Amino acid sequence: MSEESENKFQNPVAGFGVTFKAMFKKRLTEQYPEQQKVTAPRFHGRHQLNRHPDGLEKCIGCELCAWACPADAIYVEGADNTEEERYSPGERYGRVYQINYARCILCGLCIEACPTRALTMTNEFELADSSREALIYTKEQLLAGLEEGMVDTPHSIFPGMDEQDYYRGLVSEAAPGTVQQVAVSKGEKDEEVDA
Ligand code: SF4
Ligand code: SF4
Repeated sequence: MSEESENKFQNPVAGFGVTFKAMFKKRLTEQYPEQQKVTAPRFHGRHQLNRHPDGLEKCIGCELCAWACPADAIYVEGADNTEEERYSPGERYGRVYQINYARCILCGLCIEACPTRALTMTNEFELADSSREALIYTKEQLLAGLEEGMVDTPHSIFPGMDEQDYYRGLVSEAAPGTVQQVAVSKGEKDEEVDA
């Protein structure tokens, strides 16, 4: 029998050999979404805007994250705090904050650029959606939830403390009697949505 005709006979048998070996290998199928995969601790997932321990926001509306973003995925609009309506300990806060997850490549450069550690990333990776609008996350969606000892913004600064004291870790919870102020200027305008 020639070598060519021998190969013609052996090739289909060799193919079944691969199938047979695969039957006894460990299965790689992941039962997602029924079984959620545990991500690495430093996984780059959905962003979060963090708060100080009394609930004031860490974001100062400086836009450095937006300038650092290679995908032009962040839109920030800062505004001045007032004593009647305060969102962060210092002069400015992020009035409008949006991240467009149709553009974001989850590289983390915005995290590196943030001077106040206001912006970090969570382990949440289920970001898929069916419309461009739904992929633009607003400040309300990105802002961290309230933990024990926090009062939601806007509210006054801790009595006797200044902005630097917050970064020195001298404020550990909201001062007794802290009440939420009336949010007059809060809210995102439809025309500012960066699609
Ligand atoms: S993770 Fe990267 S692409 Fe996404 S918003 Fe931050 S800098 Fe832009
Ligand atoms: S998240 Fe950080 S870098 Fe971005 S605007 Fe706020 S303070 Fe500035």
